This record gives sequence, structure tokens and C-alpha cells, in this order.
Amino acid sequence: MERAACERLDRECPLANCRERFSLPEGVLYFDGNSLGALPRTAAADIDRVVREEWGQGLIESWLDADWFYLAREAGDEIAPLIGASAGEVIVADSTSVNQFKLAASLLRQSEGRSRVVTERVNFPTNIYILEGLVDLFETRFDLVLAEPGDLAGSIDNDTALVVLTHVNFRTGAMHDMAAITAHCRERGVPVIWDLSHSAGAVPLALNQWGVEYAVGCTYKFLNGGPGAPAYIYVAESAIAAFEPAMTGWFSHANQFGFEDRYRSAEGIEKCLVGTPPILSLRAVMHGVRCFDGLAMDDVVRKSRRLSELLIRLVDEGLPGGSLALASPREPAKRGSQVSFRHAHAYPVSKALRAANVVVDFREPDILRFGIAPLYMRYVDVWDAADALVRVMTTESWKAHMSDTPDPVT
Ligand SMILES: *Cc1c(COP(=O)(O)O)cnc(C)c1O
Repeated sequence: MERAACERLDRECPLANCRERFSLPEGVLYFDGNSLGALPRTAAADIDRVVREEWGQGLIESWLDADWFYLAREAGDEIAPLIGASAGEVIVADSTSVNQFKLAASLLRQSEGRSRVVTERVNFPTNIYILEGLVDLFETRFDLVLAEPGDLAGSIDNDTALVVLTHVNFRTGAMHDMAAITAHCRERGVPVIWDLSHSAGAVPLALNQWGVEYAVGCTYKFLNGGPGAPAYIYVAESAIAAFEPAMTGWFSHANQFGFEDRYRSAEGIEKCLVGTPPILSLRAVMHGVRCFDGLAMDDVVRKSRRLSELLIRLVDEGLPGGSLALASPREPAKRGSQVSFRHAHAYPVSKALRAANVVVDFREPDILRFGIAPLYMRYVDVWDAADALVRVMTTESWKAHMSDTPDPVT
């Protein structure tokens, strides 16, 4: 495939103009939009205005005059259509890890008689760590089960109190069948929390249609909310009435400014709030999510798959000896918006690519990960990155990075 063919694909792409919605550095091929999304073009000036006017001039009045008080809910309502949820089912607060704790603690506290907490060994570690801490907190009441890949369905039984899964695997990009697993759990009366961090904004999600009751996810990846932006939490309308929050802060009180002596939970999704929201970051989340305005999710998903397939094909063609093994599923419907390869020296390879202005991730122990952000990635970017990768591998320029000290962030 020639580069000119990619230029043509870019011209014909229904999302071609979306790249204009972002402010991207010149000359960088950015394959980390699944780790930290790009800066929405409208964000910087608006946040500057929020700081100077709403904070500087409006001061405390801005809680109402600038709607700060409703922002967490408003941001949730904007995220809802991207994940197949309805307004009032999503709210933005805290980090994904903290939201995972909030949901899991609440559901475990409400669980009766069941003892197994099931997740996967390959889950994103924060989910496992959070569950470990929680199981300890409940002392002897629960056991944590780390299911091996392929053995997940068999690990979920009538003694399972809770299942926690990540939809798209952070290393390989393998994507679970969320509808089927949710149905399997619900038939056994097991609540399941889905982590959508690597899914929202890039893969098809239909939470309501799939009967999903609980989910969390972060906003700084494909949703472009900015570094450390607060995460979201979803509880289906059908589940919210019975949901009793375990972390009971004043922002989830039924009468917050009544300053009552005792806790009484709010009725709706505000049950999932705890304390004062980070307004500046929340504003950035609004800009990130609004980059999806007017786009059809089908077009986004189609482009993600085409870009991914192009990368796989160019690497297959350019490195026929198989010096890089595809770690992601080949079947598009089983893959999230990323393409991962395995290589025994994946870290030096990632450093050599960065030296060639191709920003990718290394993930322990042997994964080279290309995140595919369909809103701003071009077909020519994939062509150029594959070209750089083939060159790094065939010239073995990665060997110059063999003794690089590992960065504290990869
Ligand atoms: C990125 C990511 C997180 C991040 O959690 P934070 O608490 O926001 O740092 C959580 N879960 C998954 C699956 C992720 O990919």
C-alpha cells in the first residue's frame, strides 16, 4: 500500500475535519490518545476565562452563577450518549480507582450470603488492588478470585458476590463481549461493574441495551478531558433506587445545604458523589466530550477499525519475518481501539520510536502499544508510523536504547 492511497483515504474520511478540533504538536505521530487524549482546541482559552472571570471575579457566586454546582451532573449527561446510557445515569467525580472502590464497597456491603469476588488476573491492576483492599476491609467475609483468561464464565457462580471487569484489556486490546457476560452474571444474580476506561469514545457501547447496571471509566483517554481529569460513574436507572452508597459524603446528601446531623442519601445518580468537584478539570472534561458533538459513533468506530487494520497490515507486509508478534486479536470486533505487538525488547523499541517522533507506549513485560484515536489520527499517520517501526526493526536502531534506564512513567 502506497502513502498516496492513505492521503486519499484521509480526504474521503467523514471524520477528516475532526482533527481541527484539537491542538496537536507539529511533527509528532501520537499513538497515546488511549493514555492521555489530545488537547481540545477550545479548552485553553475557556479555562483561562474560568480562572480569571468565574473564579477571579465571580468568586463563590460562581457556584450558581456559572453553574459550577451542576457541572458534575452536566458532564455526566454529555458522556451518557457516548456509552449508550441515558441522562441521569452518569456523573463525573473522583478518579476511576476511587469510583471503583465506591461502587464495589457499596455492592459488597449490600451482598447477602455470597463469598466470591471475581475479577481477572489480566485486569488493569488498580481494579485488582482496590478489590484486595476491600476484601481485607470486610475481613473474612469475601475471597478474591483472579480468573485466568478463558476461565472467566466458569468462575462466576451462585456464590459470586461481585464481578469486576475491564471491557478492553490495557495490554492486548482484547475486548470482552459485555452483553453476553452481563447476561451470564445477571442470570446468576451477580452484580457486575464494568471499567470502560479504554472503551468510551472509541468502541461501540450500549450499556442500557446490554443490561449493564454499574460502570466506571476515565475521561482523560479517548474522551480528551486532560491530565488527571475526574472519572465518571454509571448506575442504571433501574438499579439506582436500591443502590446504597458506602462512601457517604455531603455532596451525596439528600439535603446538602440543610447541614443535617445525620446522613440521608440523595435519590438519583448524585448518590455517587462524595465531596467538592474539581471545577477547572471538569470544565476541561466538557471540552473533551464536546469534541464528539455531531459525530456518528458508527463513523468513529469504523475509522478506529480501519486505522487499526491498516497498521496491522503494514506491519505484516513490512516485517514478513514476524519479528513483531501481534498481541491484539486480529478480528476487529474482538479488539478495542489499539494495536499491540509483543517483542522481547519492547521497551528499547518504544524508545527508538519515540526518538523518531512516534509516541507509543511500552507495557510490562513485552508489549508495544499503539493507541488509535480516530478523532484526530490520520491514515497517513499510521503509514508514517508503520514506516518508522519497520525501519527501527530492520536497522535494529532499538539496540542503541538497550541500556536506557526505564522511565518512571511508560
Ligand atoms: C487508565 C485506567 C484507569 C485509571 O484509573 P485512575 O484512578 O483514573 O488513575 C483505571 N482503569 C483502567 C482500566 C484504566 O485503563
